[in-house]
Amino acid sequence: MRILIVEDDKDLNRQLKAGMEAAGYVTDVAFDGEEGHFLGDTEPYDAVILDLGLPMLDGLSVLERWRRAGRTMPVLILTARDRWNDKVAGIDAGADDYVAKPFHMEEVLARLRALIRRAAGHATSEIICGPLRVDTKSARVDVNGEVLKLTSHEFRLLSYLLHHKGKVVSRTELVEHLYDQDFDRDSNTIEVFVGRLRKKLGLDLIETIRGLGYRIQDPAPATPGGAKA
Ligand code: CA
Repeated sequence: MRILIVEDDKDLNRQLKAGMEAAGYVTDVAFDGEEGHFLGDTEPYDAVILDLGLPMLDGLSVLERWRRAGRTMPVLILTARDRWNDKVAGIDAGADDYVAKPFHMEEVLARLRALIRRAAGHATSEIICGPLRVDTKSARVDVNGEVLKLTSHEFRLLSYLLHHKGKVVSRTELVEHLYDQDFDRDSNTIEVFVGRLRKKLGLDLIETIRGLGYRIQDPAPATPGGAKA
């Protein structure tokens, strides 16, 4: 999952970036509204953390422009405490949620997880796919109850495919969502990661759709008692 952080306060920006990365997200950062707007307009993000008071272009205008241009990624706005009118204006402009400053990193992370989950249509932090169970909150992965050890890369890949369960995800899309802007993007590495992930899962869950990408689907339910419906 790739997150954009738009915050002009350098310390806060650094803290947010560190917090997001510790939680397994890849991040891009911007320090003013114009740069933030440009990144959000041209790069695919799974969510954005957007400060409202920004130089060059204020956060509300950034958000309004994205929404007018049809950019629908979840946006969490950062507001000053007690500025209720900021919250209202932010939500009217298309924000999905807000956190008041000063905040606890845990709250930002929890709200972000909920936004990403909701955008993917999941109601809880647990995603189940046949014998595979992934808790996106604790990053715990198990198959038939047996816990697997995945690298952060493998976890991000699996989690992205599961958030888009049933859909074909192209290699380009994976590269765009699993790496930050500065990464040397070679889509062949995705193949290597998918191969390793398949081996660790020991399951035939990740399908290769020739020429298109990869897909994870819920396995067909076993017919009860062998009876045909
Ligand atoms: Ca600010």
